[in-house]
Formats: sequence, C-alpha cells, structure tokens
Amino acid sequence: MVPKILIVDDVPANLVALKALLRGLDKEVEVISANSGSEALEKVLEHEFALILTDVQMPEMDGFEMAAILQEHDEWNQIPVIFITAAYKDEQNRDRGYSAGAVDYIQKPIEEHVLLSKTAIFLKLYEQRQIIKNINVDLEKRVAERTAELLQTQAMAKIGGWSINPQTWEENLSEQACAIICGVPIGDPDCNCNSSLSEMLSEEDREYHFGRIRELVDSVDGQYEFLAEFTTKNDQMCHVFCNVECMYENGKLVDIRGIIQDITERQRAEEIIQYLEMHDALTTLPNRNSFHEQALSYVADTRAMGEQLAVMLIDLDKFKDVNDVHGQAVADLMLAEIARRLNEKMTQYETLYRVGGDEFAVVLRGIENAVEVAQHAESYLQAIAEEFVYFGDTISVSASMGISLFPQDADDVDSLMKSADLAMSRSKEDPGIAYNFYDKEMSQTFQRRKEQEIRLHHAIERNFFELYYQPKINLKTNEIQGVEALIRWNDPELGFVGPDEFIPLAEETGQIRDLGRWIIREACEAAARWKKELGRTVPVAINISVEQIKCPKLPDFFQKVMNEVNITPDMIEVEITETALLDDRGESRETLRRLKEMDLGIALDDFGTGYSSLTHLKSLLPSSIKIDRSFIQNIMTDPSDAHIADMIICVAHNLKMTVIAEGVEEIEQCDRLNELNCDIGQGYFYSKPLPEADFLSWYHDYAKAS
Ligand code: C2E
Ligand code: CA
Ligand code: CA
Repeated sequence: MVPKILIVDDVPANLVALKALLRGLDKEVEVISANSGSEALEKVLEHEFALILTDVQMPEMDGFEMAAILQEHDEWNQIPVIFITAAYKDEQNRDRGYSAGAVDYIQKPIEEHVLLSKTAIFLKLYEQRQIIKNINVDLEKRVAERTAELLQTQAMAKIGGWSINPQTWEENLSEQACAIICGVPIGDPDCNCNSSLSEMLSEEDREYHFGRIRELVDSVDGQYEFLAEFTTKNDQMCHVFCNVECMYENGKLVDIRGIIQDITERQRAEEIIQYLEMHDALTTLPNRNSFHEQALSYVADTRAMGEQLAVMLIDLDKFKDVNDVHGQAVADLMLAEIARRLNEKMTQYETLYRVGGDEFAVVLRGIENAVEVAQHAESYLQAIAEEFVYFGDTISVSASMGISLFPQDADDVDSLMKSADLAMSRSKEDPGIAYNFYDKEMSQTFQRRKEQEIRLHHAIERNFFELYYQPKINLKTNEIQGVEALIRWNDPELGFVGPDEFIPLAEETGQIRDLGRWIIREACEAAARWKKELGRTVPVAINISVEQIKCPKLPDFFQKVMNEVNITPDMIEVEITETALLDDRGESRETLRRLKEMDLGIALDDFGTGYSSLTHLKSLLPSSIKIDRSFIQNIMTDPSDAHIADMIICVAHNLKMTVIAEGVEEIEQCDRLNELNCDIGQGYFYSKPLPEADFLSWYHDYAKAS
C-alpha cells in the first residue's frame, strides 16, 4: 500500500507548492491536502496517514489545536505531525507544539532537502511501524486460533478451568467447567454459571476434599488430585477428575487453580470392560475370573469366622452331543436357561459362576454339614433335569457334580477347585451317581491312575505289547476252527500287566484307539502269514472295545489293512460285547452294520453276563455268540447254569448262529457242551493263549495228534 501524507494549510498556493516539493521523494507517496484543521480531521477519519505536514497559523483551528485533538485519540496519536512554521524559533510556541504531539518542525521558507530528508525519515518509521503492526495482527490471529483450538480441545476432553479464592473460598468456574457441572454442552443456555463444584458434592465428599485442599494451602506445596461423582442438574451421574494447585506470588498465596475433567464416559467404558472381564456374555453369570477373585475372599472370610464353605462343580453330561445334534444356537439357549434355573436357586449364601463351556461352579458359604450341601446339589440337579423344549424338540440333559469342602478337603481356592474337579470326574465315570464329595482316597486313586496312564502311553510308544493266540476247537470234529487274539503287556519295568487291568484304562483315556489299530494290523498280518505257512485259513478273532466301535473310521481301517496284507474277510472275526449295542446315538450300530457288510464275522462276547437281551441279539444278528466262562465253569455242578447254556445254544441256533463256549478247562465240560449241541470250545483244556511261535508249534503238534 502506498503511504499517504496529509498536508494542511489555509493558503491553497502553499499546498500546491508543498505537493510539488514532495514529488522529489524517492518513494511513491499519495499526498492529500486539507485547507483547515477541521478538514484535516475529516481526512484523518477517512485515511490512514503515514505523516501529517501542517501549517501552524490557520484561522478557526490552528495546527496546535488540531494536533491536540489527534493526540487524544488512541488511533491517531501515533501519526507523526510536523509543523511548518515561521515561528520555529519561538521557544514557547515550540514547547506548545511538542506537548500537542508535534514530532518535528520545518521552518518556512521550506528548504527542499530538509523537507525531503525529514519526510523520508518519518516514512521509513511508518514503514517499520506497519511491519510491526502486521506482525502483531498476525500474532493476534494466531493467538486467537490457538485459544479457539485449546477451547475446542478442552471441550472435547471435557476439561474446564477451576479456581478457588483463598480468602473467600469462593469458586470460579470456566465456561467449560460450568457446563460439566450443569451436565450440558458448552454454550447451553441452561448452563448456570453460578454453580460451584462444592455444592454438587455430597456433604461427606465436600468436607473431605475441601479439607484436603485447605491442608494443601497450609502445607505450602504440592497439588491435590481427586475423583468425585455427583448428579448433574439434569439428573445424570457425572464422574470428574479434579486437580488443584496453589499459586504464589512473592511467597504469598494468590490463587488456588486447577482443572475439572469430565471422565464419565471413560469411567463407563472402564466399567463395561471390567464387567466383561468378570462376566460371561451368554449367561451374564460371573465367570471364571470372578470365581477366582471372589472365592479367595470367601475362603478368607470363612477362615476368619471359623466357618465352613463348599465348592461345587457342575459339568453337563455329553453336552457336546446337544451341540452336534441340535446346533450351537439351541445349545446356547439351553446354557442360558440352565444358568437362569440355577440362579433362581441361589440364596444370599450361594454364588453361581460359569467357569467353562458347559461347566458351572457354586460357592456355598456358611454351611453346617455335608448333608446340607447334598440337599443343595439335589435341587440343582432337579433344575437341570427338567426338560427343555426348543423348536418342537424336547431335550434333556444331566449333570455330574463334584464337591469339595473347606477346610476339611483343602486350604486354598486352587486345591478346592482341583478336589471338586476330581470328585466330579468320579461322578462322570459312574452314570448312576450324579454327585460326589471329594475324599483323600480319591486323590490317591487318581494319582495312581495318572501314573498308569503315563506308563501306558510309554508302552504304546515303545510297543511293549504282544498278541497271544488261543485256539478255538470244533467240538464235533476237533478241528482247529480259528484263534482269538489276546493282547499282553510285558513291561521291562512293571513286568506283566493283564488286559483286564489296562484295557479299561486305555478305553477311558482314549489310548485304545492307537492300541486297537496296532492290534488289528498285527492280527491281520498273523492271519496272512499263517495262510502262507500253514496252507490254510485260520480265522483270527479280534477283540474290539466299545470305544473303537464308536469310531466311524473303523471299517475303513479294517479294509485298508486287509488290502495291504492281502487277506479276505473270512479270515477275520470281530468280538464285541453287548455294551457296544447300548450306544444311544447309533454310531456303533452303523459301524457294525458296515463291518457286517464287509463280510467280517461278528461274535457277541461274554454272552449271559450282561443284558443278554434277545432284542440285541435279533437286531445285531451276529455270526456267533460266546457263552461266558462263568456258565461253563459250573456247567457240571450247577444245573441252572447248564440250563442257561442250553437255552442260549437253542436260541442261537434258531437264529443261525454259531455258539462258542469260553473257558473250557476239562474234558467233561467238552463232552457236556457237545451233548448240548454247542459248536466250538475254547479254553485251557485245549491251550492257554500263546505267543505266535508257541501257537504254531502247538498247532503242528495238535494237527499231528488228531
Ligand atoms: P475275553 O475277550 O473274554 O477273553 C477271554 C479271556 O479268558 C482271556 O483273558 C483268556 O486268557 C481267558 N481264558 C481263556 N480260556 C480260559 C480258561 O480256560 N480259563 C480261564 N480261567 N481263563 C481263560 P485275558 O487274555 O486276560 O483277557 C481278558 C479280557 O481283556 C478279554 O476278555 C478282553 O475283554 C480283553 N482283551 C484281551 N485282549 C484284548 C484285545 O486285544 N483288545 C481288546 N479290546 N480287549 C482285549
Ligand atoms: Ca473275547
Ligand atoms: Ca469273553
């Protein structure tokens, strides 16, 4: 912008001359003229001048008066005024001019170089002032921006300023702080800025926190921070973080200043996170984390009061099946319903937790005796046993429970939990018993079993097993009809372990599947070898446990091995017990159906001991049945056993099945069984189960003798 110079003179010719002189400046300027002091003031109103050059003597308002008026106004008193006067030498006049704001004088008649050099200096000053002014404007703008930003950030962070007058203890709140306290957005007309934090707090909180602030004043250092909560004017719960600090000047307390931050949302988020950490989303029950935390304090309280407490674990039976059969959605509904039913049973002394997928735990406090706990267990069971109906399906589920007592069974939460778990697995093992109390013997048995399980695992890895073979003889022709493969565990450390001992363990732990595959392969290979060596088929009967039958891949495995060793189905028979037919989901029946389809012989083992159900017999239609040793043992002495054997043989023959008598030890038994029309005999009378080499030499001896 071109700087403007105002020239004032009542003589127009002077103005023209001055203007002409000013053209000699080496800077471009705009020169504006005024004929009088008042006209000059008008021009000042219109323009921003870098400099005023004025005559002193003028009618109406002289130069001094005009300068004095400019001097009075903040906007104009910065404009340098140079008087052009003949009276320059007059001391009195000069002082008057300076006090009126004159910055310099130029003597008439004007000397050109004096005018130009003085004007140039003031123009330079003006230029610099302009630069500074611009910087200031810029700075102010930036400060304003920053302040707005800060206010916005504070508004976003919901932070307000807060101060307390240390004399009157009156509070002064910033707009934002006030908005926080009133529970309204900043700028809301409902914001009542006469509020104070202290009036919002409960009496107790107010006394405490303001007491601490007074202490802070006395202690002359430090800050005080606190969290507080109150109900805002519009009835919302508000959590705030406050901090105050004493402000001193020359060692004198002048102010107590701080901030108030609204942390309600953060608090709420933290509460939700904490809730989720401690609760199960599906059932809304407290979860395993809660269990551990709360059980610790329950145990501590119980110990302190010398009372008793029980921990009960509730595990739903076969809940995986519900998932598989009815789908996860129904399973979830059921879990939520079970949680609801159980929760209804809870008194103030019982707390229910969901500690696993289908596992719940209850802590019962203030109990008197085990009988009382058992009553609770019964009522929980009832609640679970009630039928569930979803989408037209009626579903029922049972549970197994384990209970441990404090202080009898264990002294801390972890051990209580372990003991309850042990008692629970005992209930699982026995379908007839729904709940068990923990006892010491239980843990010893458990310990032993664990050790055996590890040993068995080891034995499977190192293959400390061998198959023995026991012949089956045709009672009519005395021919060798086949063999039964029987497993033996010969452990370098443990010595001989009987199958009656380790097969049930292997079934429970699932190890039977690995072991079973080994047995099948071994037996099939033996059958293949004998076919070659003996030039005839010696069918091998393989015992298959219930757990193996459940596996739908079993038939494929048989097929694969039979193909590999190149044997035909007539060379293999499977022996199963009736329990394999009790599986309610039909998987076992399907496996058996496929095995039969493959033309493998199926023998029903230990017949007469278990259910001995004719229905089972009819539905499975095995190729043979084996009368249990217990009947054969007494066949000569106990007429009813003989009678039972007789009946079994009759029924079996009617159904076109072969009958095998197990545990034949004496020739008399052979004869009797022959009379009863039994087809095959197996037992020590012919041979004990033998290792392969021994069996082969027995075979040759037997063949030679007959
Ligand atoms: P099991 O299938 O009923 O086998 C017959 C059991 O009676 C065998 O006992 C056999 O040695 C025994 N035995 C045979 N003849 C006589 C006799 O004249 N007198 C007496 N007192 N006993 C006789 P073992 O070998 O100890 O097997 C016991 C049970 O272990 C078997 O009963 C079977 O359930 C199971 N087992 C044996 N080997 C296997 C196998 O390879 N797989 C599976 N899953 N189970 C097997
Ligand atoms: Ca058998
Ligand atoms: Ca048997």
